Amino acid sequence: MNQNSLFFRARWRLALWYSGVMGIILCLAGVGAYHMMVHAHWQGLQDEIEAVAGTLHDTLEPMLHQPDQMNPYVQNVLPNLCIITEPCANSPQNQSKRHILGVTQTNDYYIHFRDRSYQTIATVGNLPESEVNREAVWQILRDPQGRNYYQFSLLLKNSAGLPWGYMQIGRSMADYDRHLSESRLALLLGLPIGFVAIAIASWYLAKIAMQPVYTSYQQIQQFTADVAHELRTPLAAIQATVESSLAMDVLPETDSRNVLNVIERQNSRLSQLVGDLLLLSRLDIETNPPKFSHCCLNDILCDLVEELASLALASDISLNLDLKTETPIYIMGNESQLYRLFSNLIANAIQYSNLNGTVSISLTLQDRDAIAQIRDTGIGIAEQDLPHIFDRFYRVNSDRSRTTGGSGLGLAIAKAIANRHRGNIQVTSELGKGSKFIVSFKSV
Ligand code: ADP
Repeated sequence: MNQNSLFFRARWRLALWYSGVMGIILCLAGVGAYHMMVHAHWQGLQDEIEAVAGTLHDTLEPMLHQPDQMNPYVQNVLPNLCIITEPCANSPQNQSKRHILGVTQTNDYYIHFRDRSYQTIATVGNLPESEVNREAVWQILRDPQGRNYYQFSLLLKNSAGLPWGYMQIGRSMADYDRHLSESRLALLLGLPIGFVAIAIASWYLAKIAMQPVYTSYQQIQQFTADVAHELRTPLAAIQATVESSLAMDVLPETDSRNVLNVIERQNSRLSQLVGDLLLLSRLDIETNPPKFSHCCLNDILCDLVEELASLALASDISLNLDLKTETPIYIMGNESQLYRLFSNLIANAIQYSNLNGTVSISLTLQDRDAIAQIRDTGIGIAEQDLPHIFDRFYRVNSDRSRTTGGSGLGLAIAKAIANRHRGNIQVTSELGKGSKFIVSFKSV
C-alpha cells in the first residue's frame, strides 16, 4: 500500500485525522479528569475542616464562660493550646489523655482564637504570617514562604449563648498542592506519551481501515488489465486480417470469404466477452432484489442436456441426466440466468473431459435443498488451482483454455448467479480423474 502514492497519502491523512480527533478527546478527558480530581480534593479538604471545626465548636462552647477570655480548662481538650496571657512553655501540656481532636495536634492544623475586637486570645499550632480578611468565612492564606493554608472562621458563643469571640481553624494545603502539582506533571508527561501512542496506533489503524479498499482497488486494476488483454487478442486478429487484405490489390472471392470468416469469428468472440462482462457487472451492481419467478430445475437440466448432447457426441462423451425424483423441483429465480449457470458447468465438464469420458448430471432434493451435481471423468483440477477457479479471468492453463475458447469468466459468472440466487457452488476434483461441481439452492 505504501508504494502507491495515492493510498500512501490517503493513509497519512486518515492517520492524521485519527490522531487529531483522538488527541483532542484525550486532552479533554485528561483536563476533565484533572478538574474533577481538583474538585473532589477541594471538597474533601473543606469537609474535613468543617468536620473538625464543628466538633471543636460543639466541644468548646459549653466550656467558654467569660466573653473574650479563654478558659484554661480548654487545655484539657486542646493540650497544645497557647494562651496569649500565659507563657506557652508553662502551659499544662498533656494534662489529659483525652485528645478528642488529635487531628489538631498534627503540624497541618492551627487554631486561632480571637476576641470580639479581633485580638488574639489563644493559638494552637503554628499560625501562618499573613493578612486575614475579617469578613471571609473561608479564605486561603499564603505565608511569606509561599505555603498555602485554607482557613475557616466562625463565631463562638459562651455557655450563656452570648458571643464569646472567633475561632479560626486552618489547615496547611501543602499535601494538597503537592498532590496537584504531581498530577499536573503526570498529565503533562502523560499527554505527549499518550499522543505518540495514539499516532502510532492511528498509523496502523489507517492501514487496517484502508486494506479492503486497497484490495478492491488492486482487483479492479487487475480486472481492467485482464479485460484489456482479452480484448486485445481478437482486435489484433481483426486488424491483422484487414491490413493484409487491404495490402492486396485484388482479393479473390475465397480469400475475401476467409477474411470475413475470421472477422466474424473474432467478432463473436468479442461479443461473447463483452456480453459476459456486462452480465457480471449487472450481477455485481444490481442492488434491488431481482424479479424472480418459479423455475423448474428439472426442465432447465433436461433442456440443457438436449442442447449440449451434440457437443458431447462430437467429443465421444456420454452425457447422462439422472433426476432422482419424479416430482419437479422448483426454486425462485431467473430462468435465463439459471440456464446460463448450468450451461457453463456442463459445457466445462464436456470441454475438459477426455475422449470417451462421461459427464453425469443429477438432481436431488434433500430436506428443502435442491442439489444438482455435475460430475465428469475429465482432466481434473490441481489442488492449488481449486481456490482460484471461480476468480474472474482465471484459467488453469491459459493455452489449453484458449483452445477451448474460454476466457476464464464461465465459473465466475456461475458463482455470481448462484450468489444472486442465495445458492452455493462447491467443487471437488482430482487431477487426472475428474471433477464434481455441486450446486445447491433452497427449493420452494
Ligand atoms: P473457461 O472459460 O476458461 O473455461 P471457466 O471460468 O469456465 O473458464 O473455468 C476456469 C478454469 O477452470 C478453466 O480454465 C479450466 O481450466 C478449469 N475448469 C473448469 N471446469 C473444469 C472441469 N470440469 N474440469 C477441469 N477443469 C475445469
